[in-house]
Amino acid sequence: MEMQNPTHLLLVSSPGLGHLIPVIELGKRFALHHNFKVTILAVTSQTSRVETQILNSVLTSSLCHIIDIPSPDLTALVAENDAVFTRLCVTMREAKPAIRSILSEITPRPSALIVDVFSTEAIQIARELKIMNYVFVASHAWMLALVLYSPVLDEVVEGQYVDQKEPLKIPGCNPVRPEDVFDPMLDRNDRQYKEYLAIANGILQSDGVLVNTWEELQRKDLEALNEGGLLSKELDMKIPVHGVGPIVRQPELDTSSLTHSLMTWLDKQSSESVVYVSFGSGGTLSFEQMRELAWGLELSEQRFIWVVRAPIEGITDAAFFTTGNSQFDEMVKYLPEGFVSRIHKVGLLVPDWAQQVTILGHRSIGGFLSHCGWGSTLESVTNGVPLLAWPLYAEQRMNATLVAEELGVAVRPRVLPTKKVVRREEIAEMVRRVITENGIRERVKEVQHGAMKSLCVGGSSYAALSGVAKAIECSCQNVKCNKN
Ligand code: UDP
Repeated sequence: MEMQNPTHLLLVSSPGLGHLIPVIELGKRFALHHNFKVTILAVTSQTSRVETQILNSVLTSSLCHIIDIPSPDLTALVAENDAVFTRLCVTMREAKPAIRSILSEITPRPSALIVDVFSTEAIQIARELKIMNYVFVASHAWMLALVLYSPVLDEVVEGQYVDQKEPLKIPGCNPVRPEDVFDPMLDRNDRQYKEYLAIANGILQSDGVLVNTWEELQRKDLEALNEGGLLSKELDMKIPVHGVGPIVRQPELDTSSLTHSLMTWLDKQSSESVVYVSFGSGGTLSFEQMRELAWGLELSEQRFIWVVRAPIEGITDAAFFTTGNSQFDEMVKYLPEGFVSRIHKVGLLVPDWAQQVTILGHRSIGGFLSHCGWGSTLESVTNGVPLLAWPLYAEQRMNATLVAEELGVAVRPRVLPTKKVVRREEIAEMVRRVITENGIRERVKEVQHGAMKSLCVGGSSYAALSGVAKAIECSCQNVKCNKN
């Protein structure tokens, strides 16, 4: 029997499935490829049924150990209208004492700590304990560049970013259009903006950054961020940025009757003919937009699977802490009258949550109408599925611009869905395009191929992760040498 490498890695995830899932997948990669002992310290929302299921499945797989810390009580610390971003930063700040005691008491002593972007304050603890530390950015390198450059933008840009006439310039990277900026930059007077600026500084205190992208996809941004690159020089950055992606969820054995019936239905459809519609773990539409989407799907005359969530006015990330708890009957009452019976031969409606990676991996899926969370975006391109980009919150507007304009693997509406209602005729046209346009399909297959190549032995991401693993192992041996 193979002996387990004594190197112990502790990874920290903030609440939210879009944070927890990539941290788990990164942990699994260290366990599988480098034989590390991996412990995941997950600060969980405790309100999501899916969160519990995912943690249980990791425990069953025995690849990683899990320590589940319930979210601290924020009642006295945040206002009711504080943004999800603020809540996440405050949650992880409050979790610091728990992280400290686990990091100093757990055995064997961890050789490295890897935190997500909401947990960068924990780096200080690792430094005090002389433990190597990294930040894992589950998003892409252009986004990381924006985060790191934001303190400079804060000095030089006057007024709100969204009111600027020119795109925001980032040395060595594509500029960011004012309307595309990351959510916490939308209002510089909001509390989340202050929290956001502190993250850049937190990242720069680490020993290095792992980012969920790969060289072939974002060579320019990775070069700008690394030693000798324009951004790195301007920020006087001393730390390396490693493109280790795509880190995506792999389909797991799922014996639920829901997944079984979806797969049986997909088996009967022709290749690349079905559009999958989902807005990630948190995305919600307005009532009017939900009805337009229903009409658009019907008018497109294409087949579809739609993960439906109850609408809510004025908030696009309302389901962030609650995923997996809604009922079908509740959804249906928001849809146009007669919709469910009219579409029953061409479309399937799933309440709230579906096994996305299993669905995207089916040969019948030909397009993904997605909110463009980076996890969903990567799951789409690594399955060779073109996107209909429908950004809602966080950094999704940048992601949509990246996939539609730079990579050419997506179509997108003429208006920003967060600003205006996308009308049924345009939705129908886009759904038809995503299924029928060969150019986008060919391009996404090229990106898929590049992604797979980067992960194979000899590929850029494989080499980058191996380099990090080696550095951690060496630090572990040095500690032992020093003790002897
Ligand atoms: N997901 C899923 N089923 C759903 C919705 C989401 O399995 O019905 C998974 C999806 O596969 C991805 C994650 O949840 O791994 C969502 O992460 P992403 O970065 O796309 O967006 P976020 O939810 O953070 O906005």
